[in-house]
Amino acid sequence: MKDTGMIRSLDSLGRIVVPVEIRMTRNIEIGDPIEFFILNDEIIVLRKYTSTECTFCRSLDHVTYYKDQFICNTCLKELGDPSRIPEEAEPLQEANGESSDPARSGRRTRTEEMSQRLEKAMADHPYANQKALAEVLGISQARVSQLKRKISPSGK
Ligand SMILES: [Zn+2]
Repeated sequence: MKDTGMIRSLDSLGRIVVPVEIRMTRNIEIGDPIEFFILNDEIIVLRKYTSTECTFCRSLDHVTYYKDQFICNTCLKELGDPSRIPEEAEPLQEANGESSDPARSGRRTRTEEMSQRLEKAMADHPYANQKALAEVLGISQARVSQLKRKISPSGK
């Protein structure tokens, strides 16, 4: 254990100030929760508390620890397989004309990829209705309908 050489007095309410040097080097911000440990029944150790909530959505369910971060199953899936993002995350206006904003190009790629998968599914199952196609692709019927309009805008 390293002696920092820093000494602080308790104030009248029992509070101590964590020296700014320690806060800066330990990456502790004002308002961060601090955990207390007792070492060998006499030494008090302070540690920045790391919550086990998901880094991205703050969910506490099905959280996995990966490279110093906690990530929930849902966010993990989104990261690993962008084409299967839960449908409620898809904006509804997507089918009505693409935005030329470069920031949206990632989403456009996913739409194109899903369109291609739909085209293939339609070729494989020429008599499948939208419900069946939706099940094959793991998306909603509304999404199939959107994509179909995109593939053949005039409608067949
Ligand atoms: Zn999450």
